[in-house]
Amino acid sequence: MMMKEEKWFIGVDLGGTTIKLAFLDFYGEIKKKWEIPTDKSEAGRHITMHIARAIDDKMEEMEIAKEKFAGIGMGAPGFIEMETGFIYHAVNIGWRNFPLKDKLEVETGLPVIIDNDANIAALGEMWRGAGDGARDLLCVTLGTGVGGGIITNGTIIHGTNGMAGEIGHITSVPEAGASCNCGKTGCLETVASATGIVRIAMENLTSNQESILYHTYMEQNQLTSRDIFEAAEAKDSYAEEVVEKVTFYLGLAIANLANALNPSKIVIGGGVSKAGEALLKPLKHQFEKYALPRVKEGSDFAIATLGNDAGVIGGAWLVKTKLVK
Ligand SMILES: [Zn+2]
Repeated sequence: MMMKEEKWFIGVDLGGTTIKLAFLDFYGEIKKKWEIPTDKSEAGRHITMHIARAIDDKMEEMEIAKEKFAGIGMGAPGFIEMETGFIYHAVNIGWRNFPLKDKLEVETGLPVIIDNDANIAALGEMWRGAGDGARDLLCVTLGTGVGGGIITNGTIIHGTNGMAGEIGHITSVPEAGASCNCGKTGCLETVASATGIVRIAMENLTSNQESILYHTYMEQNQLTSRDIFEAAEAKDSYAEEVVEKVTFYLGLAIANLANALNPSKIVIGGGVSKAGEALLKPLKHQFEKYALPRVKEGSDFAIATLGNDAGVIGGAWLVKTKLVK
């Protein structure tokens, strides 16, 4: 008797400059991954066709039949209606009222499931990354912005119109905070993103001319969040002050979320997370001040491990759990 064939999945992670694609086996192992540029011309109308062609070409190159694949799981930026895979607005891409799921299904001949890019990255980390089997997981991505994904009992929380998990727009500075891209002021993103951290360091830099950071700035004419964490590790007192301020806001926001959600894993990803222990140690310290004792006992912090692969792996997880019967 023949074994029931295990299907493969296609993960697609759409970004503003590149589209990441991957073929993954039934267990989420990447069999092939590659990238194509994001063509934003004519309000992004060619993107689905480019994805379909890239997938067809790769199948041909690898001599794999389309029947091998159960479907496509795709992450996209912007405001998405999960049920229909309809994109209301994706600023970085140029889409407005774009029927992404329908178009991609027609062009690839495969079933498609769409979710927000931060959410599929969280699912990827849960399945194959730092989540390590956790079913209740809070994912915070610290990049140029602050993104998030909230998973409870193995499922991403979307909320009533897809806005759940917008951790970056929790208000951290209620009065006189910096302006955020969302139109509000004082969002977590303005104080804990890579840009936010640098902004905080710049605020009092000229009154801290003995700091390593002042010299770095004079030499490079700019600062990065990495410079700040490195200086803090070297016990530079101004850098330590900046890190304390940043981790206070971040620890407070995460503790408040954790008090409501009681996660077992709190995964920190994005470029800023490369600071590793220099970030985690002060962050845990702040978190522990505001988390309930049992919430604190139940949760572990971890740095995301999948990097740029998290999205395509999360896409495969969506296909496996939502499309494979
Ligand atoms: Zn905001």
